[in-house]
Amino acid sequence: MPAPSQVGGATREARPPDPRRPLLCSPTRPLLPAAQLGRHVAVVDYVEPSPRGTRWGLGGTCVNVGCIPKKLMHQAALLGGLIRDAGHYGWEVAQPVPHDWKKMAEAVQNHVKSLNWGHRVQLQDRKVKYFNIKASFVDEHTVRGVTKAGKETLLSADHIVVATGGRPKYPTHIEGALEHGITSDDIFWLKESPGKTLVVGASYVALECAGFLAGLGLDTTVMIRSIPLRGFDQQMASLVTEHMETHGTRFLRGCTPSRLQKLPDGRLRVTWAELASGQQDASTFDTVLWAIGRVPETRSLNLERAGVAVSPDSRKILVDAREATSMPHIYAIGDVAEGRPELTPTAIMAGKLLAQRLFGGSPDLMDYDNVPTTVFTPLEYGCVGLSEEEAVARHGEEHIEVFHAYYKPLEFTVAERDAAQCYIKMVCLREPPQPVLGLHFLGPSAGEVTQGFALGIKCGVSYAQVTRTVGIHPTCAEEVVKLRISKRSGLDPTVTGC
Ligand code: NAP
Repeated sequence: MPAPSQVGGATREARPPDPRRPLLCSPTRPLLPAAQLGRHVAVVDYVEPSPRGTRWGLGGTCVNVGCIPKKLMHQAALLGGLIRDAGHYGWEVAQPVPHDWKKMAEAVQNHVKSLNWGHRVQLQDRKVKYFNIKASFVDEHTVRGVTKAGKETLLSADHIVVATGGRPKYPTHIEGALEHGITSDDIFWLKESPGKTLVVGASYVALECAGFLAGLGLDTTVMIRSIPLRGFDQQMASLVTEHMETHGTRFLRGCTPSRLQKLPDGRLRVTWAELASGQQDASTFDTVLWAIGRVPETRSLNLERAGVAVSPDSRKILVDAREATSMPHIYAIGDVAEGRPELTPTAIMAGKLLAQRLFGGSPDLMDYDNVPTTVFTPLEYGCVGLSEEEAVARHGEEHIEVFHAYYKPLEFTVAERDAAQCYIKMVCLREPPQPVLGLHFLGPSAGEVTQGFALGIKCGVSYAQVTRTVGIHPTCAEEVVKLRISKRSGLDPTVTGC
């Protein structure tokens, strides 16, 4: 590495960077700042088609088969609800309003393709060299890439960043699972409606997909083997599924599938067992969506050639606080790194901070605490900080104060919508100044609400400061600053009045 020198507040190399020593990463966004900091950067990216043959463009999971198409399909489903509300507000809309999957999917896919193109342009603008090749390590400074046509390229770099993410898991022990099931790698790219769908799994991906499928009017069943939203506040998780259940999603709890058979008419017969009793049952679906977690994309990287250590259990790359692997010049960020949240914005921020540390003279490490997130189920669930269970486990029940409220969004009143699960809780330490440890919000626009309060929590806000914040009336977010009833008091937390 040439010695860096300070130029106009940012560090740049004293002599032109060696073009044979590019910085590599995959897929795109996290390391763009390295290029802005004057380095020669190459991005190596390759999409292995899903077992169903689905393939997509530049930008990784979030853009192509994750957050972006998911949020748009969630929006399509929410619009269905708003069309129903519209009648109450005087719009004369003939009911029921049919939904055209093909049209929605095409529009969503076109947007995703425009983002693919946007990423290509950004790379070009910043003079990042892009290689559409499948990469694996040759040694600790060299990567071999192979194109779809089998052409090989060798690249060497001083610093290498692995950000290859993960892919959905298929069960290995269920007959017909791989042949007949699909995953989130496919659902957003289906040209025809999936029809009656069984979603297997109970976390983010499962509940979000089931939520928009049911919202689009499809017959949707979720099969849960244990608890919903493991790792999240379990009171909130129960409210999320309760809301889905009362709005048309069927749940098969404590069940696990054992067999998928394709029937002559193309439909799928699924056999499952109830775990407690062992009793078998079966039903027929058009689509089975596996949403049972993700596996890190480390298998084909030849990490052992580079001396990069992985966790023997998860196969994720072991990293330290600087995102460095067991080889100090090789870094791993995002879902592929052990112990990191599987969330795009944390990976992007970790990548930016890494580039600034490497080439900008910054000492700043990524702070993985208080990362906010939102589950885009029909009633959205946003959270930041500790769940009530985690707060109790860390600090003891006697040191925790939980303020909570059941509220009714104003927009729900005229539309006569059920608000039974619109709920907020703020988990605080009991001792003054009662720092806020966690915020959990279930209701419309949860992502927008949670993002704002996340800043306060990151800055160490106290309960008193939250309640001294003036609310914006009439909003759902103002219900957070109006929280007055503690769980300990036993008083009714239902908000009355406006
Ligand atoms: P996940 O969080 O790993 O959860 C896997 C789910 O599948 C669990 O409910 C698990 O049940 C169940 N499961 C596992 N093996 C199973 C089997 N053989 N049969 C039946 N059920 C099985 O996976 P995910 O929902 O795919 O999410 C992956 C990551 O993506 C998450 O960490 C999340 O952070 C991220 N993500 C984020 C967003 C967002 O930001 N909005 C959206 C989607 C995903 P058990 O609890 O019983 O193990």
